[in-house]
Amino acid sequence: MPARLNLVILGKQGAGKGTQCKHLAKAYAIPHVSTGDILRGAVKAGTPLGLEVASVMNAGALVSDELVIRLVDERFKQADAQKGALLDGFPRTLAQAEALEALLGDDGIKLCINLDVPVSLVTERLSSRRVCQECGAIYKDSDIEAISGTCANCGGDVIQREDDQPDAIRKRLEAYERDTEPLLSFYGSRGLLVTVDGDQSPDDVTRAIEAVVHDKGLA
Ligand code: ADP
Ligand code: ZN
Repeated sequence: MPARLNLVILGKQGAGKGTQCKHLAKAYAIPHVSTGDILRGAVKAGTPLGLEVASVMNAGALVSDELVIRLVDERFKQADAQKGALLDGFPRTLAQAEALEALLGDDGIKLCINLDVPVSLVTERLSSRRVCQECGAIYKDSDIEAISGTCANCGGDVIQREDDQPDAIRKRLEAYERDTEPLLSFYGSRGLLVTVDGDQSPDDVTRAIEAVVHDKGLA
């Protein structure tokens, strides 16, 4: 059996991780594991987990390491994750990165892609972002779907995420700098980090990432 392909995507909120992960998950036939999506799903479904994390998430703060580590551990046990996974939004603290290493053992992270985008650009992207509450499709505030409030894919409501409001955006970017940027040296020192310029068209970003994965002999 080929080794598992476990990839981590790091990048500020709004760097385009979600968009890239959708393409890459298909290209490499591994699941896109987004802790943000898992947590938002729990909030929407009103599960006990969702009730526990809703206020923290809406304020743009991080939920506890212990809780997300448990979620990821459970996710890794599912059948589709046996070939590997594309991790988006996790790890995002040193404690999470260390826990992930312990969880995966020798068959660990093969590559960490740092999707690099300047703060000014992500701030602008996040404040104009609108999302479908049902299927997660992403729109801009100037798109007809955002103006009409109706998703073209599924007819669901298109809204602005609570944590895409200005105060929450500022908090999230500060948290990224403080808690997550240290992971660049964590993965860098292990020789696993590659930085890709996220300030190009989504297709060009995808091509750049695929080239890196190919050059490393991973797929
Ligand atoms: P973004 O990166 O755009 O802020 P995500 O969708 O990755 O959004 O996450 C949304 C929210 O979910 C975060 O602001 C945080 O509250 C919570 N969250 C997601 N992943 C983690 C994580 N690994 N550790 C702690 N909190 C997390
Ligand atoms: Zn939709």
